[in-house]
Amino acid sequence: MTALSEFNIRTNSQNDWINITNQVQKAVSNSSVREGICVVFIPHTTAAVTINENADPDVPRDVSFALDLISPDRREFRHGEGNSAAHTKTSLVGPSLTLIVTGGKLLLGTWQGIWFTEYDGPRTRKVHVRVMGE
Ligand code: ZN
Repeated sequence: MTALSEFNIRTNSQNDWINITNQVQKAVSNSSVREGICVVFIPHTTAAVTINENADPDVPRDVSFALDLISPDRREFRHGEGNSAAHTKTSLVGPSLTLIVTGGKLLLGTWQGIWFTEYDGPRTRKVHVRVMGE
């Protein structure tokens, strides 16, 4: 059994982390897959996806702050659109996740959430979810 779905999210600021765990779980539940794999894919070049703590809002804030330190805006950048810092953060964080589905649920640790990470917002963004299994 396999199912492909997508959903849109609206980001609210230039750097914005949005917890999409519930939307991804909904895609898994709608697929009827009980045992298998879930792939989350972000079709953008200035936004990414990662897993991190879902409890303390200071964690995504601090990681976003650290990414700004790693990839600040630099006058040496050549890309005419002026958002090379966002492209760099996107490559560091990555475009996809592979997750385990068991008992019809995403297998995540107690403190883990799935975060859509925006680096060039605010924008309307898309998330693709492929669920495979039985
Ligand atoms: Zn660009």
